[in-house]
Amino acid sequence: MHEVKLKFIGTSDTAGTPVYGCNCTACSMYRESGRVNGPSCAYIDFGESVIFIDSGSDLLLKIREGKKFIAQFLTHFHADHAYGLLRLRHMAASVPCYHPKDERGFADVLQRPHGFRFIENRPFESIIIQNIEFIPVPLVHTRPTHGYIIKTPNKSIAYLTDCSDIEKQSLEFLKEQRLDCVFIDASYDIVYDEGKHLNFDKANKMINKIGAKEGFLIHQSHYSLSYILKHKIKLKYPYIFEGFEYKLSQ
Ligand SMILES: [Zn+2]
Ligand SMILES: [Zn+2]
Ligand SMILES: [Zn+2]
Repeated sequence: MHEVKLKFIGTSDTAGTPVYGCNCTACSMYRESGRVNGPSCAYIDFGESVIFIDSGSDLLLKIREGKKFIAQFLTHFHADHAYGLLRLRHMAASVPCYHPKDERGFADVLQRPHGFRFIENRPFESIIIQNIEFIPVPLVHTRPTHGYIIKTPNKSIAYLTDCSDIEKQSLEFLKEQRLDCVFIDASYDIVYDEGKHLNFDKANKMINKIGAKEGFLIHQSHYSLSYILKHKIKLKYPYIFEGFEYKLSQ
């Protein structure tokens, strides 16, 4: 197996960082350093080909250029995860897009798939592509949502966004996998909580419950980042940012 990596294009919530016109600690820090963190999405880079996990960024189009686009996995149809499908679908090849059952979909992409073949996931049933196993795991969110267990011959990880909780069946299943690493939604700080996502404290506890060897937080809001910076909070499982890479091969 060539070097295979999971690469994060963005790790923010839908607002991104910096938020327009916001001068909070996190947004100011981002603005001063000229960085931009877009909505959470990632891809598996095989070198000459790619598999996308969610599609909330235009940058996916650049990455696809010159590389074979093998498959798309979608966690759910909220726009910050599905937006890129509007443009990516305009391709000649028939690319499978795996997604949870959700009749509403996003815009008209289900009715006008163009280059995509939309395939509904069966929870807990494996999909094998390029010697990698993907297992959809239902999560609690405001739309039907699946996290994905991703298994290579060397690593077993889970990509778990977006979620406000994980129900017993999914949690037990995740525990059984003896995961090397978990990437999980931690949109909120511990003061602001609308109940649609986990906060950083709940997310850290969830990684402990799952029993993964390593864990990282994604889908952060500028509120949660500012809170962490302001209160100098050291998390056992920290936030990661745009450009983060995780090696899936040896
Ligand atoms: Zn801000
Ligand atoms: Zn969502
Ligand atoms: Zn989201």
